[in-house]
Amino acid sequence: MDPTRFLDVVRLTKKYGTFVALDDVSVTVGESEFVCLLGPSGCGKTTLLRVIAGLTGFDAGDVRLDGRSIADLPARKRGFGIVFQSYSLFPNMTVAENIGYGLRIRGVPPERVRARVSELLEMIRLPHLADRLPWQLSGGQQQRIALARAIAVDPRVLLLDEPLSALDAKVRADLRGEIRRLQRDLGIPTLMVTHDQEEALALADRIICMNNGTVVQAGTPEELYLRPATRFVADFMGTSNLLDTAQVEALFPELMASRPAEAGVRYHACIRPEHVGLRPDPEGIGTVRTVTFLGNLRRLEVETPAGSLTVETHGSVDVPEGSHVALSVEPRHCTWVIDDMGTAAPGGRVS
Ligand code: ATP
Repeated sequence: MDPTRFLDVVRLTKKYGTFVALDDVSVTVGESEFVCLLGPSGCGKTTLLRVIAGLTGFDAGDVRLDGRSIADLPARKRGFGIVFQSYSLFPNMTVAENIGYGLRIRGVPPERVRARVSELLEMIRLPHLADRLPWQLSGGQQQRIALARAIAVDPRVLLLDEPLSALDAKVRADLRGEIRRLQRDLGIPTLMVTHDQEEALALADRIICMNNGTVVQAGTPEELYLRPATRFVADFMGTSNLLDTAQVEALFPELMASRPAEAGVRYHACIRPEHVGLRPDPEGIGTVRTVTFLGNLRRLEVETPAGSLTVETHGSVDVPEGSHVALSVEPRHCTWVIDDMGTAAPGGRVS
């Protein structure tokens, strides 16, 4: 078995009636790997997770685990741990009973269940909450318990469906770190669904970016951020300046040399705001329209005859609103991306 394909989703297609929710999707999760499925609402992330979990059927393709097809295996026999967005704890069971549930129904003796539950409560740093009921817990605590319950049975794969999205920013950031620590310590192959690019960048070993029921690009967080393959990925993975050929020719003609010359394909130059160089110059092509102070950096909107650019600076360059500036971009900081956003309808395709 190839360890990079511990979980192997092969050319999967799933339709709801005539609507194609997943179109020839292939995804892998390696042993110990943390993979994020990232994409906008309706792109098919949850459908894919549910198919992998065995909760939803599919029309073509295969799902393999450790080299074997599990397509015919019912969900409860797949040995997966699942955490959903909404807190799905059993309301009438204590924290300890919730965490031990999976072990009890597998017939594990009570003393071993107790020992494992204590160990997990220590692991998620909530040993004092064993006897509480779910309604006596905060949202963040409930999600930690849901996580502990999912990993109690030593799952072969951990599936997380937007587990942090109902939490406020601070709790979310804390729990993000906690999930990563647990996943690293335990080495469980993990597939997490999120529509939050920052979350995916912070957590994932590898990100699979989806749109309209297809995989648009898969790679490390650095690859997706610094070398997006398409305009959709560039746009989805943070702020970027996406310039068409005429704009590049007008503003940064030296970048034209690297433009791919494939017939019939429209390209845009993707330039991240932190990669636009800027200096005060009364003769410069740009005029600073707004300066926003963001603590560790300043974000500027700079107007030019060829459109406006977003620029981020860390230094203390003195460029007040209304001042003129010269702009520059090093060729290594320009990525030419395919324009895949021209006519695509949101939400998927109809066959
Ligand atoms: P979100 O981030 O909003 O949860 P998602 O990427 O997880 O979105 P899915 O829930 O997988 O998207 O849905 C993908 C598409 O399939 C959507 O257009 C949705 O409306 C459609 N869909 C999902 N479930 C069904 C269903 N049971 N019947 C018909 N269409 C469905």
